[in-house]
Amino acid sequence: MQQQRIVIIGGGIIGLSTAYNLLRSGIEQVTILEQAIVDHDQASSHGISRLLRFEYGSDILYSQMVQLSLQRWQQLEQTVKRTLYTPTGVLVLGSEQDESTRASYHTLRTMGYAIERLTHADCKQRFPQFRTQDFDFLTFNMNAGMLHASSCLQALRTYILALGGKIIEHHRVTQINNESEREPIQLQVTGGEVITADRVVIAAGPWVHRLLGKMELPVRLTRQYLLYFSQLSAERYGVYNFPSFIADDLYGFPLHTTGNTGPLYLKAASHSFGAPAEPDEVPPIDEKVIKQVARRLYTILPELEQATLAKIESYIYDVSVDEDFILDYMPQDHRIVFATGLTGHAFKFGLLLGEMITGLIRETQPVVPLDRFRLLRFRQPRQASAVVA
Ligand SMILES: Cc1cc2nc3c(=O)[nH]c(=O)nc-3n(C[C@H](O)[C@H](O)[C@H](O)COP(=O)(O)OP(=O)(O)OC[C@H]3O[C@@H](n4cnc5c(N)ncnc54)[C@H](O)[C@@H]3O)c2cc1C
Repeated sequence: MQQQRIVIIGGGIIGLSTAYNLLRSGIEQVTILEQAIVDHDQASSHGISRLLRFEYGSDILYSQMVQLSLQRWQQLEQTVKRTLYTPTGVLVLGSEQDESTRASYHTLRTMGYAIERLTHADCKQRFPQFRTQDFDFLTFNMNAGMLHASSCLQALRTYILALGGKIIEHHRVTQINNESEREPIQLQVTGGEVITADRVVIAAGPWVHRLLGKMELPVRLTRQYLLYFSQLSAERYGVYNFPSFIADDLYGFPLHTTGNTGPLYLKAASHSFGAPAEPDEVPPIDEKVIKQVARRLYTILPELEQATLAKIESYIYDVSVDEDFILDYMPQDHRIVFATGLTGHAFKFGLLLGEMITGLIRETQPVVPLDRFRLLRFRQPRQASAVVA
């Protein structure tokens, strides 16, 4: 295994996290091929922030995975001596009836987290920016927060290079030739170059169907928007004065920026799955969707209406049919592992998913039971989900 050449296709959070884990496990020849550059602005991992929430309803496996993930982010933070995570806390505005809010509260309590249930009066006193009257189950979890996405990618990039890994940018893999298991895998790259590998990890984000189209994976691509508001007072909307929040499908963050410089934005979005999307296509922004999201945000945060909607970004989710990730070997060829169906919630799990993929490559005991994430689940009735031992 130590002598094997492992090539990872894609330098997003999943590809980088896999390289990081493979190198740390002692594998020496690890190369990432990235069609553009790490942290480019069409990749799903791009941007200034990602929410790290523990709230997954009664689905304890995901909450446990968040717990494991946060430990790994904190370890990386200590190693690279750079802020990757800010514990902003997460305020959830939910209802007694919804599937998630009460269930998350009980799950997290069972796990030992000091998640609080707030009355309207508590919420008004602590977070007067919010209008909560349309909600009747309010919680606040101080452990959750915001990952500085771009800093995470750059930190991993630096660390991978320091560990002896290679990152080759502007190399798009156009074809994977793996006909004979006795021959190494050949990766055709734009420009005609052929790169040879013993094992391959496909972590191509929204481009997954370009390389795995024949598999007809149950994954659809959707267009998602992020709204950036400026001209808000740091005293009212800055980190530690204002929490990250979730309200139905809407979510957002306190004022922040990338690293220590640049304008401060309150970033907010809807997690509802948008219109069908195609990678490499950047259609005009759908103003109707933006207006709807903004109007709903103004209902929760009335002062936002006076702020400036300074920037809108558009990205793609790769949504699996059951919204669980897909991590598996390619059928008929265990030399190739792929990750897809990340369904707009995988960034926080990046380091852990990289560790799980490393386990698949090394064929070691997985840190998290993998059954729920295997392709086989689409061919057999759903089992109760295993929890982390
Ligand atoms: C708008 C938005 C908001 C989100 N918010 C959150 C959040 O708050 N919390 C959370 O946990 N998660 C969130 N997510 C989910 C998370 O960001 C994604 O699941 C994750 O970043 C996907 O990472 P990836 O590495 O699979 O894909 P990507 O980041 O897209 O990386 C794939 C890379 O592969 C490269 N590539 C593709 N094909 C080839 C090829 N043939 N050859 C070479 N390179 C190739 C691409 O250029 C790209 O850089 C969000 C996602 C989006 C889009």
